[in-house]
Amino acid sequence: MIHYRLICDAGHDFESWFRDSDSFDAQAAQGLIHCPFCQSTKISRGVMAPHVARGHDPEAAKLREALDALREQIVENTEDVGDNFPDEARRIEDGAAQRRAIRGRASFEEARALLEDGIEIFPLPGGAREGH
Ligand SMILES: [Zn+2]
Repeated sequence: MIHYRLICDAGHDFESWFRDSDSFDAQAAQGLIHCPFCQSTKISRGVMAPHVARGHDPEAAKLREALDALREQIVENTEDVGDNFPDEARRIEDGAAQRRAIRGRASFEEARALLEDGIEIFPLPGGAREGH
């Protein structure tokens, strides 16, 4: 069974299971797949996120490339404070440290505490890979 994310020609987004990709193609060609929102039978396949992470198809590679470029840009424009990230983020928020863009590591609990205190943080695209 394959789990597909599907999009109709009106842009509705829904999910469905198929025996295999041929089965999806055949059903779609015969107009057997209906959008649950508008009953359109013009359905195309969306990209499932897990496929993007380990996929080898060109679409996934392109997306991966875009994420890497974005990540690189963030890395270039932020100061790495490593494990001091939660403390440094608070110091900047309190005005105790110079206001600047930083990156570093925070545990899930630390990240949640920062967000709860209204300090804006977000995960680096591409996950927590180490490197420059
Ligand atoms: Zn629709």
